[in-house]
Amino acid sequence: MSTTIDKISSPPCMKTTDYTDPVIHIDPTLCTGCRRCAEVCPVDAIEGLPGEPQTINADRCVICGQCVQICSVYASDWAGSSPQESAARRLERIQERDMPADIREPLFAAYYSYNLNKVSDMMTKPGQFRIVQCAPAIRVSLAEEFGMPFGTLTPGKMAAALRRLGFDRVYDTNFGADVTIMEEGTELIRRVTEGGPLPMFTSCCPAWVRFAEIEYPDLLDHLSSCKSPMQMLGALIKSYGAQLDEVEPANIYSVAIMPCTCKQFECDRPEMESDGYRDVDEVLTTRELAYWIKQSGIDFANLPDEEFDSPLGQYSGAGSIFGVTGGVMEAAIRTGYELLTNEKLPKLQLDFVRGEEGIRVAEVQVGKLQLKVAVVAGLQHAYQLLDRVQAGECDYHFIEVMGCPAGCISGGGQPKIMLEKQRIEAYRARKSSIYGHDAARQVRKSHENPHIIKLYDEFLGEPLGHVSHHLLHTTFQQRGPGKQSRSSTISIKGDTDYSIH
Ligand code: SF4
Ligand code: SF4
Repeated sequence: MSTTIDKISSPPCMKTTDYTDPVIHIDPTLCTGCRRCAEVCPVDAIEGLPGEPQTINADRCVICGQCVQICSVYASDWAGSSPQESAARRLERIQERDMPADIREPLFAAYYSYNLNKVSDMMTKPGQFRIVQCAPAIRVSLAEEFGMPFGTLTPGKMAAALRRLGFDRVYDTNFGADVTIMEEGTELIRRVTEGGPLPMFTSCCPAWVRFAEIEYPDLLDHLSSCKSPMQMLGALIKSYGAQLDEVEPANIYSVAIMPCTCKQFECDRPEMESDGYRDVDEVLTTRELAYWIKQSGIDFANLPDEEFDSPLGQYSGAGSIFGVTGGVMEAAIRTGYELLTNEKLPKLQLDFVRGEEGIRVAEVQVGKLQLKVAVVAGLQHAYQLLDRVQAGECDYHFIEVMGCPAGCISGGGQPKIMLEKQRIEAYRARKSSIYGHDAARQVRKSHENPHIIKLYDEFLGEPLGHVSHHLLHTTFQQRGPGKQSRSSTISIKGDTDYSIH
């Protein structure tokens, strides 16, 4: 297999989405001004007086979708309207939101734009090679939309459903997560041994990246230059995958199923393309996929378990824990430890990154290096830590930041749960399923995934090499004047000395 990408020469798939389109909206005719959304917004982007319809300041919004998750105000019938008028008003709003016309779910005041109509249209176009990838957090939440208990793990049924929806290849973002560890882990080792800039931040979460671009643009060179796992896999699908399938990249229609509303924004970023091809053509949320499966008459609960396709659907346990806060850190330490020390990591379950606190810190003995790490869950916790980094007072080597409170399992595109008690229960169940999925995998370290080893042997060459740099890394850009004033409270779990025994 050649490591060049010379075969790619046809014109790219055309994007129909406007990069500047807002993804998150509040319907002023439904909003009661209760401001529950403002309480969960990590960046104070929701503006308005109590009791009056709210608006979103698009320059501050990081598109995390937490306001969409919390809003409990919805339209059933419009007061004072006849049934016909009521139906017409509902249809108007459905069209405004790009939802399928026959959707039956309630229309909430805070919402995100749907992409399902665009994807359904593209699926009917002849000559397309249709590929889908699924994020780690979908397989532990999708079943909830079909009445199964919180956290039910269904990767096999999900793969089967996606084949029945018409995809030619069903790949897995977890494979992209394994590649991310190879690239990001190598980048961290290089920064530690060659002089920074440190601390290095993860760059997997698009809401966090957007937050850094808006609020802390002077820290952008601290972000890993890695694209997210979704974008990495997207770029590999249209290069390595296209070569394996002998398909022209121009004929590939690449869809990603994500728990995250900000992934729509990320895939539309102009820099997220390689050789003129968009890395990912369209993103659907968990809720959109669930609706699509139902609308297509697929009996999800009774589907057989099917495998993801090879090679870009084969993943390690480390890839699967990217779905929870602390997962990227744990996966990176599993690989970084072994690459730096040439010794086996004695214990794979790294409990010190698995807590529920907003910020967790630890010192990890990795060979001769005392590696100082921090995990931030939820952007409201990021401000104080970033202020310390900005002031040069923070001597961590590696910091993971995830925009949503429990990581991707609590993303804005996940099944909507109205009661707070149930929401917490769901997050715990999804998290436990993700860790169970990791523990059950035969291969639990990214660098031991045989398909990753083959990818580097046959195509990429080496982490941070020429082909990786071209396809898998990116740049970031300032998007505003810098940090706005905001109060924040954080609790830091006490610094822990941690040696792996
Ligand atoms: S968008 Fe929803 S949660 Fe926010 S103020 Fe309006 S009704 Fe309340
Ligand atoms: S999407 Fe997130 S950042 Fe934007 S308004 Fe909603 S809660 Fe705030």
